[in-house]
Order: sequence, then C-alpha cells, then structure tokens
Amino acid sequence: MIFGALEAGGTKMVVAVGEGNGHILEKQSIPTTTPEETIPKIIDFFQGKGIQALGIGAFGPVDVVKTSSTYGYILNTPKLAWKQFDLVGAFQKALQVPIGIDTDVNGSCLGEMTYGCAKGLQNVLYLTIGTGIGAGIAVDGKLLHGMLHPEGGHILIGKNAHDPGQSVCPYHDSCMEGLASGPSIEARWGKKAYELVDKQVVWELESEYLAKGIVNMILLLSPQKVILGGGVMNQTQLFPMIREKVIMLLNHYYDTKEIADVEQYIVPASLGGDQGIMGAIRLAELSMQ
Ligand code: ADP
Ligand code: ZN
Repeated sequence: MIFGALEAGGTKMVVAVGEGNGHILEKQSIPTTTPEETIPKIIDFFQGKGIQALGIGAFGPVDVVKTSSTYGYILNTPKLAWKQFDLVGAFQKALQVPIGIDTDVNGSCLGEMTYGCAKGLQNVLYLTIGTGIGAGIAVDGKLLHGMLHPEGGHILIGKNAHDPGQSVCPYHDSCMEGLASGPSIEARWGKKAYELVDKQVVWELESEYLAKGIVNMILLLSPQKVILGGGVMNQTQLFPMIREKVIMLLNHYYDTKEIADVEQYIVPASLGGDQGIMGAIRLAELSMQ
C-alpha cells in the first residue's frame, strides 16, 4: 500500500509517498508561505500517486483531539496566515482519503517507535531542540494528547544565576525553550550556534538546561528511551554532557537497567532526519485502522 506523508513545518513542508514498512519512494520540500499558495502545491504532489491515506505531523499548536469541533485545525499560531486554518479539511476535500494528524514531535516519536531506535518500546520521549523545543510523548504505546497535546518545551526549569542571557520565550522567563532553544543560544552569545562550537561555557550551560528539563520529564513520564533531535543536537558533544548531568541530577534515585546504560537511554534520533516523515507514513497507516 502507498501512503502520503506530510511534515508541516513553519518554514518548509516536507511531502513524501512511502510504503507501510517506512520505505520512502519519493520526497520533496515545499516552502511554507501562505495556505493559499502552499496547500495547492502539496495537493499537486499527492494527486495521481494512488495514496491510500495521508499522515500529517504538524507544527503547533494544532488540534489533535478527535472529538473537537476544530479537529485538524492549526490553532493560535504566531504564523498568522495559518491561524485557525483547517489543515485536515483542506486535504480531505481534495484527496478523499483517510487522514491521520498529530504534532510534528509526536510524529517523530512514532517514527522512531515504528522504524527506529525505539522499536518495540511503549513509553518514549522524543525531544526536538531547534528553533523551538518540543516534546513528543508515547505512554503505554499511545501518543499523548490529553486536553490538546503536551507542550514539553515550556516546562519551567529555573535560570542559572550566572546566565548572561534572557529567556527568548514571550510567555515564560525560565522555560526550557526560552533558555535552551537555538535562538536562545544565539541571543545569549550574539553568534550563530554553530559558530560557538569551541566555547565550552556555551555547551555547559546548554547541557545544564537540557538535563534539567529531561530529568523532570524522566521523573514524570518514566520513559524507556529519551531521543534527542533538532538542529542544536548537531552539536554532538552535548550528548555525553547531558547524560552526565542527568545522572548527577537523578542522584541514584532510579535504579533501573535503562539509567544504568545511559548511553543507550539518552540517544540521538536514529533515522537520519526522516523520523518525522516516516512517522507521518505510520500516522497514515494508523488512520485506516
Ligand atoms: P526547526 O526547529 O526550525 O524545525 P531545526 O531543528 O533545524 O529546525 O533547528 C534550527 C535551529 O537549530 C537554528 O535556529 C539553530 O539555532 C540551531 N542549529 C542548526 N544547526 C545547528 C548546528 N550545526 N549547531 C548548533 N545549532 C544549530
Ligand atoms: Zn515558554
């Protein structure tokens, strides 16, 4: 069976067709401008390809609550052209196939659980650390939604007293996204993150904030694996630093085999950047069940 997959981002839309085993047959990137301009291009890509269902991993906030009257809508986003846009409705009308939608990070989490490093696990945390910080969460095999969907990037973590910067989150002065996203690194140090590779102090602080947030999530969600993706995690020196600080902060509170093997517990995304689009293939497949 052939499925359509869409990873809807604020700067680009990745579209693909693929098979249920995760194999991607064709993939393309379309810039995100306005719905009027972008949506027809996406529809054009899928038309005539014989897709049986479409899966969407979308930037948020997005209504993923199936019983809601605005299910499938992009909600109160700063990307104003997309505010209250009926994303699922637009494709349903044009493509007439079942559609599954979730957040981009839940999609990536599902991709890793179906095809990647979290295969076979039921409780998984996927964090993206990029322009924003987002958390995809699976609990007992199901992606977590609740009243809307988790906004794990905005958990409050407490600012380091020696931090020379300010939170870049307009809502919170000490949330994880405000203190540890790519733009927050760049605002604090006045340079692009990739130009700061040799500055130890940058990554010490970054790993401290990420470790704090991750520890809170581990304590609350008890994930079997923590997967870290997003542009900032290209700085792979962060991984050992984060692991060490997580162990230190947990301070032996957990005595599990996962924590004992922390290198296999806190890991990079494993699907070479395709975790989101592969997750969307699985969302498509699940929409048919
Ligand atoms: P998005 O979050 O917009 O989907 P990314 O996950 O690629 O996209 O995140 C982009 C952010 O990640 C940039 O704003 C930048 O701050 C940071 N970033 C990208 N590449 C690197 C890198 N090589 N090293 C450190 N930070 C990076
Ligand atoms: Zn915030």
